Amino acid sequence: MKKRLLLLVAVTILMSACLTVTNMPPTLVPTIAINNSETTDGLSKNATAEPVSLAQETAVPIATLPPTNTLAPSPSATATEEPTSTHRSTPIWTATATLTPTAAIEPTATYWPTVTRQLLPEAISAGLPPCQTRVVDTELLAMVTQQFFLPETYVPPDLVPLSDYFDDSITLGQDLYARQAIIDPLQTIIEAMHEAGLRPSIISAYRSYSEQALAWKWWSGQYPGRVAILSARPGYSEHQLGTTIDFGSPAIDNLFHVDFANTVEGVWLTNNAHLYGFTLSYPANTYGITGIKYEPWHFRYVGVNLATQLFNSGQLLTSWQLENLSPPCIP
Ligand SMILES: [Zn+2]
Repeated sequence: MKKRLLLLVAVTILMSACLTVTNMPPTLVPTIAINNSETTDGLSKNATAEPVSLAQETAVPIATLPPTNTLAPSPSATATEEPTSTHRSTPIWTATATLTPTAAIEPTATYWPTVTRQLLPEAISAGLPPCQTRVVDTELLAMVTQQFFLPETYVPPDLVPLSDYFDDSITLGQDLYARQAIIDPLQTIIEAMHEAGLRPSIISAYRSYSEQALAWKWWSGQYPGRVAILSARPGYSEHQLGTTIDFGSPAIDNLFHVDFANTVEGVWLTNNAHLYGFTLSYPANTYGITGIKYEPWHFRYVGVNLATQLFNSGQLLTSWQLENLSPPCIP
């Protein structure tokens, strides 16, 4: 009798367990969560990746190139660059009541910085093409932000090899390209640096959409948790314009590193680049406006007048563009 009772209890427990399993709702089945909130770049995203800033650089995966934050950052590139709620930019078209972003487009803990990302009001977006098919302004001021990206198909019209104009001591033997439109000012600024006794290099120039995509993939494989601070998504890099140069210094082995700001080449560029038409796109502590961390090596050619105006006023190129140019496309 006791034996039968025990058997009955055992059967009841077993049935109960089976029911539990068969009735388990599908949502309890362990799955790999993927963040699909932003898929325009077509790149896989890791749900565990933290929302961190988006560096513009490192398109050329050089084996010896360490991530920029493996070395101690200089005092000018401290944690104060981290995005905070007070750092949100306010592009000009959010200034009126009708253009205020709604709660649905507030920054969230998504994979990519969303500091300037927002829905355009219908009155502004009407008639604009999606950024995937935007026509890019080749008059040097085209807006490329973390909101207004470049089409995959965009290639600047007048790319030339830098090896036609500079020797290997400048290009470091790399196969670099830039727009013909910036060759003269680029030669002039490098000559001026030589005359000042400096030894500048060009560590990166034009990058195609696909090169940027490859770089992103490479870096995401090497540093999956930190790819967002080591490489830009394809389409979101000013380098695709062909008018942006990353300068290097032998003092830091021509690496992408915030210590470039403390080299003689970096100091000279900080103080003089505007005289030759180049502007520092991503100064220290401007993440909240640009969505990109401090890049003391990254200069974009915009012409002497605007570069000087920006230098004297302290205004960022991104801010100037948002205030003075019409949105080029629907993000
Ligand atoms: Zn750059």
